Amino acid sequence: GQAQIGVTGLAVMGRNLARNLARNGFVVAVHNRSPERTRRLIAEHGAEGRFVPTDSLADFVAALERPRAVITMVKAGAPTDAVIDELVPLLDAGDIIVDCGNAHFADTRRREEALRKQGLHFVGTGVSGGEEGALWGPSIMPGGSDESYQKLGPIFEQIAAQVDGEPCCRHIGPDGAGHFVKMVHNGIEYADMQLIAEAYDLLRAGLEATPAELAEIFREWNSGELESFLIEITAEVLGHTDASTGQAFVDIVLDQAEQKGTGRWTVQNALDLGIPITGIAEATFARSLSGHAGQRAATRRAFAGTEPTWRVEDRGAFVEDVRRALLASKIVAYAQGFDHIRAGSQEYDWDIDLGGTATIWRGGCIIRANFLDRIRQAYDDQPDLPTLLVAPWFADAVRAGLSGWRRVVAEAAHAGVPTPAFASSLSYFDALRANRLPAALIQGLRDNFGAHTYRRVDRDGSFHTLWAGDRSEVEA
Ligand code: NDP
Repeated sequence: GQAQIGVTGLAVMGRNLARNLARNGFVVAVHNRSPERTRRLIAEHGAEGRFVPTDSLADFVAALERPRAVITMVKAGAPTDAVIDELVPLLDAGDIIVDCGNAHFADTRRREEALRKQGLHFVGTGVSGGEEGALWGPSIMPGGSDESYQKLGPIFEQIAAQVDGEPCCRHIGPDGAGHFVKMVHNGIEYADMQLIAEAYDLLRAGLEATPAELAEIFREWNSGELESFLIEITAEVLGHTDASTGQAFVDIVLDQAEQKGTGRWTVQNALDLGIPITGIAEATFARSLSGHAGQRAATRRAFAGTEPTWRVEDRGAFVEDVRRALLASKIVAYAQGFDHIRAGSQEYDWDIDLGGTATIWRGGCIIRANFLDRIRQAYDDQPDLPTLLVAPWFADAVRAGLSGWRRVVAEAAHAGVPTPAFASSLSYFDALRANRLPAALIQGLRDNFGAHTYRRVDRDGSFHTLWAGDRSEVEA
């Protein structure tokens, strides 16, 4: 075989990844279960580089140089297992299967372990950036063995997005580390989008402005600290007019947000690890809530006429408050996401470099932003940073934005505008900075009804009060 790498699964993602590889000079074997997709790729894009089209998996494997590197880009779940089962008997020890689909990291760990026992490398790889990213340069998050990265690294680093001369790809860690980091990336993306949506909603209600006017505000924000792909496309979407009605596009879209499930995975895993990723959780629940149309209609009817009115006095100051609240809440979301990655890294023994992870999200992916340079800086300066919130640049931004953040959340509550992510991020911050938390009372209640014991501020040990007796304290 002479192909340096192969791609099986040529729907939008696989096909674009194969084209990206070919454009960058690699000889790419291509295969798809139904051969029409392979034929179409060659017919439409065969001239872009050196493809080796194949109709059977046996021919596909035979076309590859050794050790073989096979990328699977098929539907996550059972189809991925089916393709792996077909591939394994055709491969030899030392060959590499790279799953670039959106697998759950636990599946990746299971597959990696099974294939390792057969002498094969299995590299669960997170790929972000959608179709365009796959074609022009995604953010690539490979897991798997160091040995497999020696072969894959030079290829992936070349086809990845490049920022300041650095590729948006690096070896994240063993087995499921890459898919885990991709999962948290998607969770952060949920939070980021929810925060932007809340900022839009607040501005719209407070200013009684048109979407086109709001597009202008986001365009302006995109030249400052908030500069990011998501803010840029927010301006684009808000400025778009629906061709069939002439109305603002955002007003003709049904207000029920959908999800493919990675936000849910992130929250489920954070619950298991005990990491309070409240921003991502609120964002995920906000999407669910939006879909409960029946409950929304019933509640709207039952409470009709109770909507408060809202008049913003100083429009310029209000816009600036919302901007600062957005930045502060976004810092909270990223702080929580990086806490989650650190906890996963500890739990599953991955030794993930947090600063390095921030680096590869600077380009190619949906949450790409200059902001990520500052996160890299923060974790490079202090790898054991307790929380991103206390790193100098972030602490300054939160301090500068704090009174605006409080005003925005308070005014939103007065005005009846829902801000689940803004409000919970502020609460998260206030809880972290509090001298005392009412968790002490929770412990008292648990001890009262269930003898669950408590610790004291002034002495070591566990204690229980004899609530039903003479209320004396015993050491537990
Ligand atoms: P789809 O998820 O729609 O998957 C379609 C592909 O899977 C086709 O090539 C199909 O082959 C193949 N397939 C399905 N079942 C089997 C099976 N049992 N055996 C062999 N092949 C099978 O394609 P996408 O390109 O959208 O996504 C590919 C992967 O990338 C997914 O895991 C997705 O989650 C992930 N991803 C997608 C992104 C996106 O923006 N779309 C972004 C990042 C990751 P056939 O043509 O024969 O039906």
